[in-house]
Amino acid sequence: MNIILFGPPGAGKGTQAALLQEAFSIPHLSTGNIFREAIKNETPLGVKVKSILDSGELVPDQTVVDLVAEELKSDVYDNGCIFDGFPRTVAQAEAFDAMLAEKGSQVDAFVALVVPEEELISRILSRGQGRTDDTEEGIKNRLKVYENETAPVMAHYKEKGLVKEIDGIGSIEEIFARIKSAVNS
Ligand code: AMP
Repeated sequence: MNIILFGPPGAGKGTQAALLQEAFSIPHLSTGNIFREAIKNETPLGVKVKSILDSGELVPDQTVVDLVAEELKSDVYDNGCIFDGFPRTVAQAEAFDAMLAEKGSQVDAFVALVVPEEELISRILSRGQGRTDDTEEGIKNRLKVYENETAPVMAHYKEKGLVKEIDGIGSIEEIFARIKSAVNS
């Protein structure tokens, strides 16, 4: 089963993806984590994307799509995957759909966490993960980029009837229970 976990920065995608990974026994792929790891290890990819992540802008579509295509060659994803932070533009979504279709696969569910903007900013500022993009300016830019470039991805999957909107306010366990029942329905 391929599940896209979608939502603005601070919506709790990473936390819920980890729980879903355990409950459904399918791996979790976070493009943000891959970029942060590459930056930490100063790989050529890391060097290329560091300033982009720090500013809250998006890494170019082709770079992200190539990265995911390469990653999905691994057989650990044969039974599906929880995608967190990808696709983030309509162009990425189109490339992703084509990539899956080529493997005889498809997106099975698009889970959108809905959280009001004021709540997002306070959550990110208080989560204290030490991310270099978690400054007030970085957060504001990520929210703007989300509205302009990422939110339209939801309309793309709505047309396909795959979107399940989940109230992202509540305890981690409550939100997880909502996601599980939406995915199972
Ligand atoms: P995240 O951990 O998902 O919040 O991602 C952190 C940062 O990594 C984003 O602000 C972008 O700069 C970059 N990034 C992660 N995923 C993508 C993607 N699918 N497309 C473009 N940039 C991405």
